[in-house]
Amino acid sequence: MSSKIGERNLREKLFLKKVNGGKELSESEMKKCDKFSQEYKDFLNKSKTERENVNYILKKAVGAGFTEFDKDKKYKSGDKVYHVNRGRGLILAVMGENGVKEGAKIAVSHIDAPRLDLKPNPLVESGEFALLKTHYYGGIKKYQWTAMPLALHGRIVRRDGTFVDIVLGENEDEPCFCVTDLLPHLAREQMNKKMSQAITGEDLNALVGSLPLKDGKGAELVKLNILKMLNEKYGIVEEDFISSDLEFVPAMKSRDIGIDRSMIGGYGQDDRSCTYPCMEAILNCKKPQKTTIAVFTDKEETGSDGNTGMQSKFFEYFVHDLSKMDGVKLRHVLSKSKCLSADVNAAYDPTYVASYEINNSSFINKGVVLTKYTGSGGKYGTSDASAEFTGEICKLFNDNKVLWQSGELGKVDNGGGGTIAKYIANLNVDVIDIGVPVLSMHAPFEVISKIDLYMTFRAIAAFFSNYDL
Ligand code: MN
Ligand code: MN
Repeated sequence: MSSKIGERNLREKLFLKKVNGGKELSESEMKKCDKFSQEYKDFLNKSKTERENVNYILKKAVGAGFTEFDKDKKYKSGDKVYHVNRGRGLILAVMGENGVKEGAKIAVSHIDAPRLDLKPNPLVESGEFALLKTHYYGGIKKYQWTAMPLALHGRIVRRDGTFVDIVLGENEDEPCFCVTDLLPHLAREQMNKKMSQAITGEDLNALVGSLPLKDGKGAELVKLNILKMLNEKYGIVEEDFISSDLEFVPAMKSRDIGIDRSMIGGYGQDDRSCTYPCMEAILNCKKPQKTTIAVFTDKEETGSDGNTGMQSKFFEYFVHDLSKMDGVKLRHVLSKSKCLSADVNAAYDPTYVASYEINNSSFINKGVVLTKYTGSGGKYGTSDASAEFTGEICKLFNDNKVLWQSGELGKVDNGGGGTIAKYIANLNVDVIDIGVPVLSMHAPFEVISKIDLYMTFRAIAAFFSNYDL
């Protein structure tokens, strides 16, 4: 009898714990997960593009006392600032007691998501339909984007330099759009194609109209009719499509998933399930020891290139300005800084077990997932967090009762993926990926767990408020 208890103690002591939060968390903690998730779902519904994310976060930040960053101003401990990058990226920071003299605490997440962007010259007429041609953004399975309601979001800059912001198709009394698919009856050839070729990029054309201009004469009367309506509503002409950022996104709202309502389904949860916890953590950050920074970046899904992506100098310039204020060198600040790169990982999916290695997968409900490295095929294209920094973060989570798990992205040699961690690491900053496990990643409707969402917030909040890091 005693030996059995001894064995149980040994297991308890030695084995890596992988517990379902549904068993582990108290009722009051479960309530917190649910409350956090309600507000999160509202965020998902109200901001589906990078610009809308910036506006949403900025509004909350201004309400919480953040003011526009001025590099020539003197700031004191606890002062809160924001710095917008071209309307598509954003930095929020809370000045620390020591400023950036001993480095900064940083959390980064991305606010872009896979979608269908309009081509520069998108409006065509074919078969007496008006269609908008698209160029998909990010890694999508194209067939998933057909035969479902889409909404059009974005900004159009008119010839006179003024602009108009558009959100069309989200409300039930508004028209929406869709990409058609071939009926199964006639799809014998299509159904025999490889999944990657059954729907091609050039097939992703959205229906926008079918009525010709009444009393019109000549060719392309359906297209002309649509342009007339767009001109009346938005004051635009065809050329203005060239100077626009217009995106088709799923018109669905986010919903609870499951009889037990334990999960959330919705569009754009890569990476907004990490963006939202980052935002809440920085909004709740009070008088930190080190200056604490949350970066919300664009273009992750297309490689982080461009002036709103993580590879741009925008973030570095901001830290440079902070360094100058405190009379220290940028390189000194960066090399002493620490960062959580908040991005999603692939949750173990019972329907596709062959793609996962069960010992190293992340699981729904087992908490925020710590991803030591990403990349693919022999750890290519990744920042592999050091044993030392990983150890610091594991200890931080354990000390703060953050429910967490370790995860790798699927089986070795099955594929792979990256995050912005490597661009932060290249600045000589200690960085590790943490975030939410996701089912159906990059699909128009992705699924996460409420427990994991809330634990990601708890993880970032603990990192921001810990004095030893
Ligand atoms: Mn991501
Ligand atoms: Mn992604």
